[in-house]
Amino acid sequence: MREYLKFYIDGQWVDPIGSGTVDLVNPATEEISGKIALGSEADVDKAVKAARAAFASYSQTSREERLALLKAIKSEYEKRLPELAEAITEEMGAPASLASGFHTFLGTGHLDTAIAVLEKFVFEERQGDTLIVKEPIGVCGLITPWNWPINQVTVKVFPALAAGCTVVLKPPQLAAYSAQILAEILDAAGVPKGVFNMVQGKGSVIGSALSTHPDVDMISFTGSESVGVQISKDAADTVKRVCLELGGKSPYILLDDDGLTERVAAATSGMMVNSGQTCSAGSRLIVPQARMAEAKAAAAQAAEAVTVGNPAGNAAMGPVVSEDQFDTVQAYIKQGIDEGAELVAGGPGLPEGLDKGYYVKPTVFATTNDKVVAREEIFGPVLVMIGYNDLEDAVAIANDTDFGLAGYVDGNDQDKCHEIARKIRAGAIYVNGGFDFNAPFGGYKRSGNGREWGEHGFAEYLETKAIVG
Ligand code: NAD
Repeated sequence: MREYLKFYIDGQWVDPIGSGTVDLVNPATEEISGKIALGSEADVDKAVKAARAAFASYSQTSREERLALLKAIKSEYEKRLPELAEAITEEMGAPASLASGFHTFLGTGHLDTAIAVLEKFVFEERQGDTLIVKEPIGVCGLITPWNWPINQVTVKVFPALAAGCTVVLKPPQLAAYSAQILAEILDAAGVPKGVFNMVQGKGSVIGSALSTHPDVDMISFTGSESVGVQISKDAADTVKRVCLELGGKSPYILLDDDGLTERVAAATSGMMVNSGQTCSAGSRLIVPQARMAEAKAAAAQAAEAVTVGNPAGNAAMGPVVSEDQFDTVQAYIKQGIDEGAELVAGGPGLPEGLDKGYYVKPTVFATTNDKVVAREEIFGPVLVMIGYNDLEDAVAIANDTDFGLAGYVDGNDQDKCHEIARKIRAGAIYVNGGFDFNAPFGGYKRSGNGREWGEHGFAEYLETKAIVG
């Protein structure tokens, strides 16, 4: 049983000012795995004061001093990788291989990227008689979701610290354990007191106290659209910078080429990774209508091949994060059936052989883009297949969505894929399986307004000053 009942404020583990704790449940077993303390507005205020006091000196540190700090963090992070992976599996149900693989690897990647960006970043440039200086924005409130918990925390904390900002992190209640270990890593690495602070608790209390706090300069938020909207409203009175990384319903266009069935299979099993709880998941698979029968057969086979079960064992897919999430995903599956979408694989209820845990069957629908299951973010292992007549139609379907976080185009002709990628209204388009830690990541439309990852993510934590004359 884990018990994390202290917050990290001003370089120390301190008792909460607010009282109360909450039990956390292991989604694989439905049993209580531990408890965390719930913070109050007073805890947030204390953390913001510490961050504000530390900003005066930390913002003046040299590039070399911050590089040395990030390298010390890297050495501590690497020591704790197995513990981080175990915590991720326990808190949100990611299979052990995924938690010790991509989940924790993303943190290493963001750390290496923050170091590489800081090494080369040009903080000052002359424009005629004007000197343009980039400076850290100040005290940052970082609010993160549970789905890729270490990724979400590290993609904010590392560039913020690299830029010279001080931070107050509010991790998600459902993935509090990995955040706690990260705070221990930063403490062991010797992050100066007050530079990094962490308060756990309810979003409506801690998140809102950060968003409204007059001494917080910026909020970087990743999570749902509705909370992003609330944060923007809360932050408006104090004119903070608000960076939002929200949800998606990303199109995955497959060209009418040889290898279509293999690509359908890869896109289907890709959708099931992390139980489909990925903001940028290619959840709308857009395939040539003339080859729909072939595509459905390949998707069904791939979905049925995904092993579902105990994430601490060898299963490819674990549970979804919570009972609430299970109920939401089940309701969408039911709605898909009720609105006439064709069930290609999976369906409602627990997978065969499982009677405990929040497990969902890898599910595939074939339908049209106007159905609710094709329009709303389900955030579970549910893929929707949609047929297109020609590439213009494929692009129109891809863009017929409120979201614009990501897109995917796979086909044999790279130039043709790029041509289509340019036409998709979304922040990141992955062509034939591309991946790059330096590529900016963020949304068009209702998927948000900020950019994370690489130099663009680093630049979000900077202000621009002109010294004229
Ligand atoms: P959520 O919006 O419910 O919670 C996110 C965080 O906000 C949590 O820490 C929560 O405690 C906090 N919060 C809740 N109410 C708040 C309030 N009123 N003020 C301030 N903070 C508050 O989202 P979730 O369920 O944790 O995550 C799933 C969502 O996140 C999905 O929509 C997914 O697409 C999105 N997401 C987006 C990205 C991206 O980079 N664009 C990445 C991962 C997840």
